[in-house]
Amino acid sequence: MELQERLEDVRAHIEKAEREAGRPAGTVQLVAVSKTFDAAAIRPAIAAGQRVFGENRVQESQGKWPELRAEIAGLELHLIGPLQSNKASEAVALFDVIETVDREKIARTLSEEMKRQGKYLRLYVQVNTGLEPQKAGITPDDTVGFVELCRAELGLTIEGLMCIPPADENPGPHFALLAKLAGECNVAKLSMGMSSDYEIAVAFGATSVRVGSAIFGAR
Ligand SMILES: *Cc1c(COP(=O)(O)O)cnc(C)c1O
Repeated sequence: MELQERLEDVRAHIEKAEREAGRPAGTVQLVAVSKTFDAAAIRPAIAAGQRVFGENRVQESQGKWPELRAEIAGLELHLIGPLQSNKASEAVALFDVIETVDREKIARTLSEEMKRQGKYLRLYVQVNTGLEPQKAGITPDDTVGFVELCRAELGLTIEGLMCIPPADENPGPHFALLAKLAGECNVAKLSMGMSSDYEIAVAFGATSVRVGSAIFGAR
């Protein structure tokens, strides 16, 4: 299958999942995760109409996105991987959305950096729903307080919550937990679901799904 077919296939599955969940068509945003793929591999997705992309490394993104942005207007770039403070300046300059705000230090750094650049990104807080020690994210218990701190004290626009469920578990309960926390924090957006489980995520209320290998192929 060509990339364009795979992309259409993913879009069709999202639409089907929206319908089955009784949600209006087009309510779920597809974030095409292009990490490890170069600009030449990404161009066919852009040609097929895809405009929203996810990357997990700042440095890798700097090597391909400035060039693509110069060619095509209206691209939207999401950082979906961990962010170190020493990369915050580059991240603010390059991305439109950062989905991985997960600790006070990085929230403070982003707040200062966005003021400095006069560029205010939309942000998501990453939640470690499975309490996995190797995984980034704020704990579910700390989520409401952390979102409050980001908003009230740091003046950040926290638009949504994001999670990556444990690889070996049924993702449903993790998606349900993220949706519950979003209600408690009064955030509207839920970034959840990847190639293996995005249809399930749509059923649990995802407003965006982050799909990589199902579009671009195996990494
Ligand atoms: C790589 C990645 C994805 C996409 O994973 P696929 O299984 O290839 O769809 C989604 N979210 C995050 C945070 C990732 O790092």
